Amino acid sequence: MAGYAMGLKCDSCGGEFSLRDPLTTCPNCGGLLEVQYDMAAMRREIKVIGGSPEYDSIWRYRQFFPSVEEQNVVTLGEGRTPLVKSVHLAGKLGIDNLYYKNDTMMPTGSFKDRGFSLAVSYAKELGVRRGFTYSSGNAGASFAAYSSRGMFNALALVEYIANPVKKAMIQLYGAQAAVLDYDNFGQITAMLEQAAERLGLYQFVNFINPIRHEAMKTYAYEITEQLGRVPDAMFHPVGTGGGIFGAYKGYCELAHLGFTDQIPRMYGVQPAAAAHFKAAFDAGLPEAAAYGDCTKTIAQSIASDSPIQGGRRVLRAVYQSGGAALGVEDGDILEAMRDLAKDGIAGEPSAAAPVAAFKQAYEKGLVKASDTAVCVITGSAFKQPGAIKEAAGEPVTHIRADIDELEKLIVRLRL
Ligand SMILES: [Zn+2]
Repeated sequence: MAGYAMGLKCDSCGGEFSLRDPLTTCPNCGGLLEVQYDMAAMRREIKVIGGSPEYDSIWRYRQFFPSVEEQNVVTLGEGRTPLVKSVHLAGKLGIDNLYYKNDTMMPTGSFKDRGFSLAVSYAKELGVRRGFTYSSGNAGASFAAYSSRGMFNALALVEYIANPVKKAMIQLYGAQAAVLDYDNFGQITAMLEQAAERLGLYQFVNFINPIRHEAMKTYAYEITEQLGRVPDAMFHPVGTGGGIFGAYKGYCELAHLGFTDQIPRMYGVQPAAAAHFKAAFDAGLPEAAAYGDCTKTIAQSIASDSPIQGGRRVLRAVYQSGGAALGVEDGDILEAMRDLAKDGIAGEPSAAAPVAAFKQAYEKGLVKASDTAVCVITGSAFKQPGAIKEAAGEPVTHIRADIDELEKLIVRLRL
C-alpha cells in the first residue's frame, strides 16, 4: 500500500526530510523529527478507522502509519487489548464510566510492543539491519523480542537500577545487552542525543526515533472503536512520553478526519519523586528541566528525572488538550495497585500510577463523575514481582491439610 506519510519535519528548525532515509534526529539542528501525512487525501479517502480488518493487531490501523511492505511487517499480535470497565474502583468513588486499557496483555507484557512492532518493521523497510535502544527494562525486552523475530541485530542498554526480571527478559529474547551505569539521568539523555550525531547508528529511543510513537496513535483508534466515542479524559504514565504524545496525535488525526469533534483531556502521570513535567506544568512552562531523584520511587518504568529535549512534545499534548501533568506518591501507587487488582488487573507500579492520578484528579475536581475516563495500564505486575509483595504481602495463615482444620478456617473467615 502506498500510504499517506509524506516525510519528516523537524520540530525545531522546520527542516523537511525524506522518510526513505534512516534518520533519527534532525541532520541540521539535532531537533526531533515528526512524520507528516497528506491529511487532505486522508480526509477524502479514509472512511473507517480500522482500515485493515484482516489484522487483529495495531496493523489494523496501518493506513495511519508510514507504509511498510507486507514482508517487512514484524508482528506478534500486539495491540487490540481489552478496554475493561471498572466495577470496584468506580463503585468506591461513585462514578460510572472509568475504563482501563489493559496493555498488560501485550506479547511481552508491556505497551512498548506497539512501538517496537512498527519501529522494527519500518527499520527493515528502510534496509536498516542493526540498531540500539536505551531502556528502564520494558522497552529493552520488547525491542529484543521484535528484533529477534525480525532477524534484526539489536543492542539494548538497560539501566543498572532496572528490575532483574526485565534485564533477564532482554537476554531471554536474544538481544545483545549491556547494563548502563550513571550518576544522574541527564548523562543518559546527553549520551543518547550525542549518539545520533556521532555514531550514525540507528536508534530506537522514544522521540529520537521518529517512528516508534506513531504506533502509540493506536490508543486513539482502538479506544474510539471500543467505546464508540472519544473519552473525555485519558491518564497515561509518562517516562519519555511516547505513549501520551502518540495517543494525542492519534486523536488529533481522528478530529481532523471528521471522526470526532472532541479531543480528550490528556493527563500525564509521573512519580512525585521525579516529576519534571509536573514542575514545568505547575509553572506554566513549555519546557521541563531536570527535577527530583528517579531512584526514590517504586515506579521504575517511569522514573526519569530529565526529559528528552525538554519534554516539549509531552507538555504540548497536555496544554493543548486541556489536561494536566500530575505527580503521585508511592503510597498512592501501591493503593492503586490494590484497587486495580480488585478490578481484576495486576499492573506494575508505573501502570497503576495513572489510576492513582485518576483518584487524585477526581478529588481535585479535574474529572467529573459524569466523565468517561480511560487509564492506560501499561505493564504487567509480573514485570516487577517485588512490588506485588510490597502492595499485597503474602498470605500468613497456615492450616494442616485436614478436613477439621479446613472447616474451622471457613467458619472463622465467615466465607
Ligand atoms: Zn532541525
